[in-house]
Amino acid sequence: MPLEPNKPLYFRRALRKRCPQCGEGPLFRGFARLNESCSSCALRFRRESGSQTGAMYFCAAVTEIFAALLAVGMFLLTDWSLPVALTIGTVLVLSFSYVFLPVSMAFWTAVEYSTDVSNGESWVEPRA
Ligand SMILES: [Zn+2]
Repeated sequence: MPLEPNKPLYFRRALRKRCPQCGEGPLFRGFARLNESCSSCALRFRRESGSQTGAMYFCAAVTEIFAALLAVGMFLLTDWSLPVALTIGTVLVLSFSYVFLPVSMAFWTAVEYSTDVSNGESWVEPRA
């Protein structure tokens, strides 16, 4: 009998950069380099070309929100000139995007896995 989908568990595992299915195998083989599959349960993380496009969009959207909040914060809390604010803001936004990318990829892997489990796809085997 299949287990009920436990989506919060899948997201917790993925955000710890572990396989959303078993929680054991590492998601990444380097910084923002997703493994092809889980070394523990063989779940394929990259089933098709472009499967991480959603991660790219998610990262871009969150980075844009960060940039907007940063711009408002700098406007309200500092008296920096425009060139200084743009320079500091650009460095902070690019740094944020760089650091957030693997988090976004892990999040998106959990989104895909949760969707597959909910759809009863044959290649997923949820584990408690
Ligand atoms: Zn696994």
